[in-house]
Amino acid sequence: MRVYYADHQRVELPAGHRFPMGKYARLRLELVAQGVLREDELIPAPAIERAAIERVHDAAYVEAFLTGRLDPKARQRIGFPWSQALVRRTLASAGGTCAASDAALEDGVSGVLAGGTHHAFRDRGGGYCVFNDVAIAAVRLLDAGRVARVLAFDVDVHQGDGTAAIFQDDPRVFTVSVHGAKNFPLRKETSDLDVPLPDGTDDGPYLEAVEGAFEQALAAGSFDLAFVQAGVDPLVSDRLGRLAVSLEGLARRDSLVLGGLAARGVPAVLTLGGGYAEPIEESIQAHVGTYRAATEVLARRS
Ligand SMILES: [Zn+2]
Repeated sequence: MRVYYADHQRVELPAGHRFPMGKYARLRLELVAQGVLREDELIPAPAIERAAIERVHDAAYVEAFLTGRLDPKARQRIGFPWSQALVRRTLASAGGTCAASDAALEDGVSGVLAGGTHHAFRDRGGGYCVFNDVAIAAVRLLDAGRVARVLAFDVDVHQGDGTAAIFQDDPRVFTVSVHGAKNFPLRKETSDLDVPLPDGTDDGPYLEAVEGAFEQALAAGSFDLAFVQAGVDPLVSDRLGRLAVSLEGLARRDSLVLGGLAARGVPAVLTLGGGYAEPIEESIQAHVGTYRAATEVLARRS
């Protein structure tokens, strides 16, 4: 399986910053150490071209971010201090999702160890998201006529509000979000299918909700490609999650979704999404579980 990573573009955050930037490089090492992926399956993500970003995002917003001229409020909403390194990292993250979508169309499954930046809207970022990688990659393939209908299946604990808003009036993309009802963002957008969950939801009802959403989405038509925002922040130990899903529950979720897509012949692109467990090792293990599920699905196919 070809999996793209963006941590070759290093971003140093100020001491005490809440975002676990170190997670990405450690995840890559852990995937190899546990024998889930071979070193030669991991590929540095290429930078996205500006034209592809501007098919989704307002040119003025793109220009302001790339040149460090976002106003303080817009910068604060994103949550990262601006730097040239952040620009390079952001371009690699979206570039990785585009490269992974090309690979998925050839191989059946691919992924990026970054991305899932679903809180980015056309004209603004938010919640650690600058550009919406899934939207950029989907529109790039749709506009080129390489796919006709795309599923954006988001099981991060936070609603995929940016993705929902971007595709609100675009019938080519069916957006699904299974998320914590009381979690960020407080003001929710309207996806094609939203499944809000109460605080404290644990494995049984969680898996039932994901399976129900998955079946309902697949009943809504046929898809040429699916993006899975496989955030692991529903984990019980996540400090931003408010749900109570176990590591095993998340692994079952990922098997269910990836296995279901493979059974229907729908290529899948995995994006990383959130994971803020205390300790962060638990989020890393959960992300490893996502890729273990993907390799098992691929092994069953061949
Ligand atoms: Zn999240």
